[in-house]
Amino acid sequence: MLSRSGLLSSDTDYRYSSNDCNNFTRCCLCGIFSPFIFYVDSQAAINCIKIALPPYHNFFCVNCLPQPTNTTEDGPISLYWEGSLFNNNDFLSLFDGYEYYHPDDRPTYYRNYDLIITEYCELPPNYMRIVCEPMPASVRMRKLYEIFPAVHQIPLNNYSSIWEMFSKVEQKYGEILKYYLTHMH
Ligand SMILES: [Zn+2]
Repeated sequence: MLSRSGLLSSDTDYRYSSNDCNNFTRCCLCGIFSPFIFYVDSQAAINCIKIALPPYHNFFCVNCLPQPTNTTEDGPISLYWEGSLFNNNDFLSLFDGYEYYHPDDRPTYYRNYDLIITEYCELPPNYMRIVCEPMPASVRMRKLYEIFPAVHQIPLNNYSSIWEMFSKVEQKYGEILKYYLTHMH
C-alpha cells in the first residue's frame, strides 16, 4: 500500500489506547480520529493493505486510504471504479490535516458528527471553488461539512462495543447507498 503519509502509519505511539478506544469511529488502520472517514467497498483496495485487517475494518482516514502501488504503461492500476472520488487526488487532499489523536482533542469548531465518505458522493459541481477560496479554518470546515448531503453524517459516539460501532457504520453505509439509488439525478 502506498500511504498518502508514510509518517503517520509508521508511528503508533500517539494512538489513543484506552479500553474504549475501539468503540469510537476512527481509522481502522492507524487509529487516528478524523471527521472525514473514507468507507472502502472495493475488495481490491482492502487486499492492497500490507497487514491483513479483520472483517469490517474497511474505513480509513485520508492518509490510510489504500492507493495503488502497481502501475502499467497506461498509469496506475486503479483500486476503485473509474469515476470514483477516491481516485481524485485534488478531492482527497481537501480532507488532509483534520486528524486528531484523542477524542478529547477534537477542535471545538468541528461539528458533533463525522462524515462517512463513499466512492460516489453527490457534491455541488463547483465544490472545489467553494472550499478552496481563502477563508478562516473554521469557515472552511463548515463548508467541507456542507458540500455533502446530510445522509453522510454519523453522530459522534462512544459506543458500548466495537461491534456496535461497526454495525452503525455499516448501517450508515447502507443508508448512503439507498439514498443515492433513490436520489440519483
Ligand atoms: Zn489512518
